[in-house]
Amino acid sequence: MTRVLVVEDEPQIVRALVINLKARKYEVDAAPDGATALQLAAARHPDVVVLDLGLPDMDGVEVIRGLRGWTRVPILVLSARHTSDEKVEALDAGADDYVTKPFGMDELLARLRAAVRRAEPVGGADGADDVVTVETEGFTVDLAAKKVNRDGRDVRLTPTEWHLLEVLVRNTGRLVSQKQLLQEVWGPSYGTETNYLRVYMAQLRRKLEGDPSHPRHFITEPGMGYRFER
Ligand code: CA
Repeated sequence: MTRVLVVEDEPQIVRALVINLKARKYEVDAAPDGATALQLAAARHPDVVVLDLGLPDMDGVEVIRGLRGWTRVPILVLSARHTSDEKVEALDAGADDYVTKPFGMDELLARLRAAVRRAEPVGGADGADDVVTVETEGFTVDLAAKKVNRDGRDVRLTPTEWHLLEVLVRNTGRLVSQKQLLQEVWGPSYGTETNYLRVYMAQLRRKLEGDPSHPRHFITEPGMGYRFER
């Protein structure tokens, strides 16, 4: 049984989520504000959190930071906001994905399933850090050996290209924000040099995508970041 914590102050949305989730055999707890959410998360240990960013008592980003202090539970953000800044802030704080309001229930459920699936232990060990090889139909990434194999041959990557690839692959299926990529690959004082990312992503695509102009694995989320899909 998968337990979902819904954090949302709009009763109609809570009702719709509870009905739909229970119909699909999820167990659901609901919190109308951030303080209740943090208490319920500690008491109930949900498998996934659906979190509205606009809460009456605190910003949803603070709830993310509070949760990330002690848990890696997947967090799916509901955002009614139109600027991408706040979504990026939520991702930087540790959210896993977001859905923009008004959302379709099917889309939300698909994102929820994906978030839960990514959090499942791989090979009986604890989480994604233990994945050492990632295979696509076109190439294989060996994180332990720091090698990429395409059609039986090693692909030569520069250290920067490798580092970028590694961050994306370790977050397979998840949106990684521009800022997070820049800070992890180039360093903490970076964050706005998005032209670096465009250049290096183009290089990775050229080396690894079957058709670099129509990427299947290195996906751009305009204005937000990048996502690696297997
Ligand atoms: Ca709200």
